[in-house]
Amino acid sequence: MNIPVLTIVVPCYNEEEVLHETTKQLSEIISQMIKENLITDKSKILYVDDGSRDKTWAIIEELNGVHPFVTGLKLAHNVGHQKALLAGLEVAGKNSDCVISIDADLQDDISVIKEFILKFHEGYEIVYGVRKSRETDTFFKRATAQGFYRFMQKMGVNVVYNHADYRLMSKRALEELSRYKEQNLFLRGIVSLIGLKTTEVYYDRKERFAGESKYPLKKMLSFAFDGITSFSVAPIRFITFIGFLSFLISSCVGIYALVIKFMGHANTGWTSLMVSIWFLGGLLLMSVGLIGEYIGKIYEETKGRPRFAIETDLYTDEMVKSEVGA
Ligand code: UDP
Ligand code: MG
Repeated sequence: MNIPVLTIVVPCYNEEEVLHETTKQLSEIISQMIKENLITDKSKILYVDDGSRDKTWAIIEELNGVHPFVTGLKLAHNVGHQKALLAGLEVAGKNSDCVISIDADLQDDISVIKEFILKFHEGYEIVYGVRKSRETDTFFKRATAQGFYRFMQKMGVNVVYNHADYRLMSKRALEELSRYKEQNLFLRGIVSLIGLKTTEVYYDRKERFAGESKYPLKKMLSFAFDGITSFSVAPIRFITFIGFLSFLISSCVGIYALVIKFMGHANTGWTSLMVSIWFLGGLLLMSVGLIGEYIGKIYEETKGRPRFAIETDLYTDEMVKSEVGA
């Protein structure tokens, strides 16, 4: 098998504090793998600057000047982790045999990168990094994440348990990925739809190296909600079911009320009236909101807007230059 070109794609949003350290550690691993003939010396670290407001891009440019492996992609504005990652994958996929995606903060153990590559050499097209433990995450984050994975699996969405976006994808897997054109990206779910020859590699998740999480609770919840509603209409069905159930219950209550009335003990209706009005009102609003969520998604999809805009692409420029030079 030919020696592959590897590109490590790293989405960065306000990551000025971690970039130097990340570069140091990733370069070491890359150099070592080049020495062992596992990857070629054309392998790169591609930082995707997702419209950061701090010095992230300046640092990427600086590192690009001094470091042979470092290259960068600057997006025109902040599009969020998933789309930034997608931008990186699309750009890197054109010139690489395999691509590894990883967060900038070194929370995912980079020493398993070599295992990823070994699996790639064995012929796997997608290798998932799976967290063995989440000891460094707060209890709350652990519990919500677990609930989320369970819920997704129950709904028939086949996400790999405890896998974040740390994985290797071959060129072929990336080509398949590029055929999924949806706006509401939930990459983990989509990648598991691709199929191909797949395996998992286990690692321990660490503390963020520096800086703070860019996924506060609100973003996390909305990410989970997007993940669910982009992949399944089960919640709508569930609402229909609840609606049906509450209709049945209300009918019984209605019959009961009529019977009471005709038996002459009227005027007892106030409580049940209030309860049912509020119950049904809440249910209706919830259903309308949920259906609205899906309609909103349809609306976004029909516009077919570009998912990201690239401002500067050092990577492709370098590739073109090196080909002309060769
Ligand atoms: N990120 C990004 N755009 C955003 C938010 C985050 O590219 O709008 C990047 C961020 O720089 C990091 C990765 O996504 O490399 C994961 O974010 P973070 O580590 O803050 O999330 P956590 O690990 O806390 O879930
Ligand atoms: Mg992190």
